[in-house]
Amino acid sequence: MPIDFRVGDVVRLRRPHPCGGLDWTVVRIGADIGIRCTTCNHRVMLPRGDVERRFVRFVSRAPHPDPFAEVNAVEPTAEPEDESA
Ligand SMILES: [Zn+2]
Repeated sequence: MPIDFRVGDVVRLRRPHPCGGLDWTVVRIGADIGIRCTTCNHRVMLPRGDVERRFVRFVSRAPHPDPFAEVNAVEPTAEPEDESA
């Protein structure tokens, strides 16, 4: 299942940076994901699959920049299942 990374998210990855940092800020989303070490500010690009494999958990989430962008991206026929009811 793809992980909903957003620019500004802080994620914990399984493999620590050589500086000892475990947490990374997402700075770019694309075919590759740009992440910046929160400890030393070193920036790296990793394929999305690599980031997802190393992903442990979100440390903090970015506020959604535009809630309507996500709503409009959902196809009208694809009703999300309501699991909260
Ligand atoms: Zn680092």
